[in-house]
Formats: sequence, structure tokens, C-alpha cells
Amino acid sequence: MIRKIMEDWMRDECLRRGYQLVYTPHVARVNLWQTSGHEGFYAGNMFTPMELDDAMYRMKPMNCPFHILIYKDSLKSYRDLPVRLGELGTVYRYERSGVMHGLLRVRGFTQDDAHIFCTPEQIEDEIIGCVDFARAVLATYGFDKFQVELSGWDPNDRKSYIGTDEQWTMATKSLENALARSGIEYKFVPGEAAFYGPKIDIKLVDAIGRLWQLSTVQFDFTLPQRFELEYVGEDGKRHQPLMVHRALYGSVERFFGVLIEHYAGAFPVWLSPVQTAIVPIGEKHLEYANKVGDVLKKQGVRVEVDGRNEKMNAKIREHAMQKVPFILVVGDKEAEANSVNVRTRGQEKTETVPLDAFVQRIGQLIAEKKATLV
Ligand SMILES: [Zn+2]
Repeated sequence: MIRKIMEDWMRDECLRRGYQLVYTPHVARVNLWQTSGHEGFYAGNMFTPMELDDAMYRMKPMNCPFHILIYKDSLKSYRDLPVRLGELGTVYRYERSGVMHGLLRVRGFTQDDAHIFCTPEQIEDEIIGCVDFARAVLATYGFDKFQVELSGWDPNDRKSYIGTDEQWTMATKSLENALARSGIEYKFVPGEAAFYGPKIDIKLVDAIGRLWQLSTVQFDFTLPQRFELEYVGEDGKRHQPLMVHRALYGSVERFFGVLIEHYAGAFPVWLSPVQTAIVPIGEKHLEYANKVGDVLKKQGVRVEVDGRNEKMNAKIREHAMQKVPFILVVGDKEAEANSVNVRTRGQEKTETVPLDAFVQRIGQLIAEKKATLV
């Protein structure tokens, strides 16, 4: 359920921010990975090739080549740019068995991946858009502390990097300007860039001070060249678009793992798999409990009516252990007054409130994605 909520949020947010959503295949012919360079530089991280009817195929370790093929599907003019293609794309990477680690490092994971193709005039605003989007992710999921690094090249180690001096200067400058215009402090780390372009990394700080690398905004000088990407400029001539890879959750699985750690399982209401548990005091109160459940479900609240033949206190304890945000206890008094007795997670005192008032309160907490329950 939490993953669904995360995915829905990301897709909606992409659409709001002018991305097109795409779906791409999970396997491709080896010659695609040769064109992209993965077959040369990345083969050690890929699953073994498989032979199908006519050719050798590999599972995708990245989504980029597919997004590039979508870009190339028609000739682009400068008026069509920027093109922003986003996908919750599942990729497969061969991790040695010793390094796999829970949800944090797995062999198949889903990236909230996107690629932006644009003109040099557009690049700074595009980077600002990515940084703003990344900040929205952090704020929405309740992280108020983060650190930003800008990884540049080492001009004294020219042969370790592809791309021209002008490309590196322009790209690094646009990243710097975007961070400055966004009012974000950052650390510049020379020599830490990938060989194909500079990048911005955003690391969040969780509830107990641990750092997690999540969002990356990465320039790429190599793929537009390898795939001969073009657009027709205002001058009527063909130009190579700039290309940026960006992932904000990074891996959806890993981000989910970080959320579990950050909240220690006590999720905000909007993320909680069960938002309200309803416990009837006795068997004869089950009918009213179901009625309350239906009212809440109609409002889109995720409800569990606990009609099991167990002691009331045992049920309450169990839902409390599950860190359900609200437990509603209902008996004769509540049924008569159309009210509910509310136990709010983390609070000792319970309170009886009209059902309508509770519906309104929980609806507001969900709509506002509030981190707190009051
Ligand atoms: Zn990519």
C-alpha cells in the first residue's frame, strides 16, 4: 500500500510538472547495450545474456536507452523542447550475493527515473525544476534536513573524462547557477563526477542523523553523441540536445526502506497502510462498527473493522503494536450518540467525538499529508 501511494504521488507530481509518463521493455537486444556503451562499461553489473529466437538479449540495468529511442521516434524542433520523459522503471543489476541488503540493495529495483532533453538556453531552468522537485519529495515525506554535493571533474585529469572543456564548463556552471538561484548551500567536490558529466547529489538526513544518498541530477555528454540525438534549432540547423538523467526517490524499494527506518514504522496517516482500526466492545456492537467503517471507507479512509472473537483489550494492544494511527472503540454509548471513542497513536488519553468530527479530522490530516496526528 505504501509503495502504491509513493508511486501514485510520483506519477501525479510528474504530470503536474510537465513530464510525459512512459513504460519501456525489460529486455533489449545486446546491440542496444552496445550502442549505449553498457555492454562495454557496465557488463559486470548486468545479468548474463540470454539467447532468444534471433539474437542475444539482456535485462535492462538502466532505462536511459529506451527513453532515448522514444525521443528519437520523431525529429524534434527547438519548439518541442524540453522533452521530459519519466518512468517508474524496474531495472536489473547483478549484485554479488554478499552485498545484497534487505530493501536497501537488491537485484531488481524500480527507479523513479526521468530523462530531460533540452537546449542550452533551457538547461538552467530545467535543473532548477529538478532541484525543486527533489525538495518537494523531501518535504512531503517529512525530511527537513539534507545535504547537497556538486561533483565536478578534475581538469588536470583530462583523459578520465569525455566531452569538451566547453561542455564541462557550461554544465558545471548551470548546476552552480541553479543551486545558487534556488538558495541551496552545497559542497563542491572536484574529481567526483562520472566520466560523462557533472552531477548534483542530494543526501537526506533521517530521524537519527544517518545520511542517505537519494536524489541525483546527472549530466550526460556521451549518450546524445552515441545515439546521435538531434533537434532543429532556430537557425534551421541540426544541434545536439543536452541530456540530464534524474532520479529523486532513487530506488523506490530503498526509499521505502529509508521511510521505515525514519518513522520506525509509525507512518504519517496519509502513508499508513491501515489508517483506522475499529474495535467493537462486544459482539452486538459489530453492526455499528461496520457502519462507522463504511462511512470512513466512503471518504477514502483505509479501515480495518476488527470483528474477531477476541478480547477487546487484546485487539487494541495488537493495533497499537501495528502503530495504526487511530483506534476507534465503539459500544452502546457510541452507537446511541453516533460517536466514536478515539485512541490516537502516541497519546494516553482517549476522547469521544461525534463520528462526523472524526471523519473531518482524519480527512484533513490525509489531505494535508500531515506528519503529526493532531
Ligand atoms: Zn538514465
